[in-house]
Amino acid sequence: MDIANPSEEHLMLREMVRDWTNEYVEPQAFEHDKHERFNLELLRSMGELGLLGISAPEKYGGAGLDATACTIVHEELSASDPGFALAYLAHSMLFVNNLAYNGTEAQKVRILPKVCSGEWIGAMAMSEPDAGTDVLGLSTTAVQQDDGTWVINGRKMWITNGCIDDKGTPADVVWVYAKTGTDERGRVQMSTFLVEAGMPGYSVGQKIFDKTGMRASNTAELVFDNCIVPADNIVGSPGESLIHMMGNLELERLTLAAMALGIARRSLDEMNKYATERTAFKSQIRDFGQMQRYIGESWAKYRAMRAYIYDTANNLTIGTAGQRLDSDGVKLFATTAAKEIADAAMQVMGGYGYVAEYHVERLWRDSKLLEIGGGTLESHQKNITRDLFKDSEAINR
Ligand SMILES: Cc1cc2nc3c(=O)[nH]c(=O)nc-3n(C[C@H](O)[C@H](O)[C@H](O)COP(=O)(O)OP(=O)(O)OC[C@H]3O[C@@H](n4cnc5c(N)ncnc54)[C@H](O)[C@@H]3O)c2cc1C
Repeated sequence: MDIANPSEEHLMLREMVRDWTNEYVEPQAFEHDKHERFNLELLRSMGELGLLGISAPEKYGGAGLDATACTIVHEELSASDPGFALAYLAHSMLFVNNLAYNGTEAQKVRILPKVCSGEWIGAMAMSEPDAGTDVLGLSTTAVQQDDGTWVINGRKMWITNGCIDDKGTPADVVWVYAKTGTDERGRVQMSTFLVEAGMPGYSVGQKIFDKTGMRASNTAELVFDNCIVPADNIVGSPGESLIHMMGNLELERLTLAAMALGIARRSLDEMNKYATERTAFKSQIRDFGQMQRYIGESWAKYRAMRAYIYDTANNLTIGTAGQRLDSDGVKLFATTAAKEIADAAMQVMGGYGYVAEYHVERLWRDSKLLEIGGGTLESHQKNITRDLFKDSEAINR
């Protein structure tokens, strides 16, 4: 059994995405990274392939596919261009999937067809200048007015797809978390809002330049300055954000791990080819024991990542929380493994590995973000340790 392609449909999806990636993503990756430019049109064109709403139900314009399909697409895109893959993830996992599983019927009918086709680009805004891991430490507020509308004030930081060009054009729609009060025990009550381009008071503060990696995706600061949001744009009821967040974070972490897998696979492929082509001291460098250690260990790590990631994907039901132990586990393991494999590739490739033309220096830079975004390594360590305290039987199952 091939755990990464458990059905004929999954295999066909992988082949389709791989061919498309080779034809359209690979040729633009170098230039977009170099100039820190997001390829908006390329992302929009994925709507025609049915990939922008990959996990959304078909009745709203989605493809209705499972977590394994989402994993396959992220792995394939990331093997070529992790920055572009991150923009895809922010749109299709952080926005579209969130709306598909947590939005009201009216919100889904109105917005999902637009984001599934690529007419609208979506983003998700949780992090703030002063609150990242400490989600409940957020300071963005939303206050309901007598006419039912909400007024949002605050700033969001590091938002992928927060702007869609270099002129500061905001995303068409953003999934925004804001504080709406405290509950009877004094705990922060957090609520979710759909903020759309053109709503008064919503703007891009800045596009963030000079990132280490993921330069082909746009990262922005968003400003909500007395931003007026219609009553219909709250998602569910006030105080439900944690439910939305927890369910969606599991798929987010799995697909970030899938991006790490793409980086690892490509790095391994590049170092393996190079070790055959390059000679030194009248030998292929693959004959040297120290080179064999880089290649051999990278292969074993890659295979371990692949098995754990697809085992988790095959067991993850989208839209239900409760699989955090492994969604944290795969992201914790795979992101660092990808960084190590990209580093090994660079070492095997010597000076050539250090320049952009040979790809791995870009993968190496991109891989670092995966240890930070969508939850830091430390947050995964904390979650896993906490969950194993609550359910120690998970170890023996
Ligand atoms: C390129 C990029 C794209 C991003 N895209 C998005 C996006 O689309 N939407 C979005 O909402 N956010 C996004 N983020 C933000 C990202 O999710 C945060 O950077 C991340 O969650 C960490 O938050 P922080 O940067 O505020 O760091 P902090 O939370 O301040 O952490 C700093 C350090 O302290 C550690 N730390 C914090 N708390 C604990 C603890 N309890 N125990 C042990 N260690 C702890 C952390 O692990 C870390 O090492 C993006 C970030 C980047 C860089």
